Amino acid sequence: MNKIEHIGIAVNDLSVSIPVFEKLLNTPCYKTEEVASEKVMTAFFKTGESKIELVASTDPEGVIAKYISKKGEGMHHIAFDVTDIHAEMKRLVAEGFTLLNETPKKGADNKLVCFLHPKGTNGVLIELCQEIHHPDAHVL
Ligand code: ZN
Repeated sequence: MNKIEHIGIAVNDLSVSIPVFEKLLNTPCYKTEEVASEKVMTAFFKTGESKIELVASTDPEGVIAKYISKKGEGMHHIAFDVTDIHAEMKRLVAEGFTLLNETPKKGADNKLVCFLHPKGTNGVLIELCQEIHHPDAHVL
């Protein structure tokens, strides 16, 4: 794992939370992007080497809507940058961790992503993400 790529924060309403984080971080949101497969809209902020990702549900039945209804808004996941997501997934399975998806998925911000089950990581949802060097490359 190379570094913390971003921290994900679950929010109810991006139009409310984007201005809050713009004021907090003193930097504008540089991108919003829908991830239709996850039923979320995301908003990104740069903080030095790392990023903050706000995640809001686009569907009342989506995973983020369910998360907020159980736990409220707040810290949702920590994402680590990896060089080779397939190799990292294989390593983590061998170490006994449980993956939430068996193959990498296309995530927001031009990334291949995979989540680990929080039961194996002290309740912390972990995301692996690998930069896609060719934006139009197919997900393998
Ligand atoms: Zn994320």
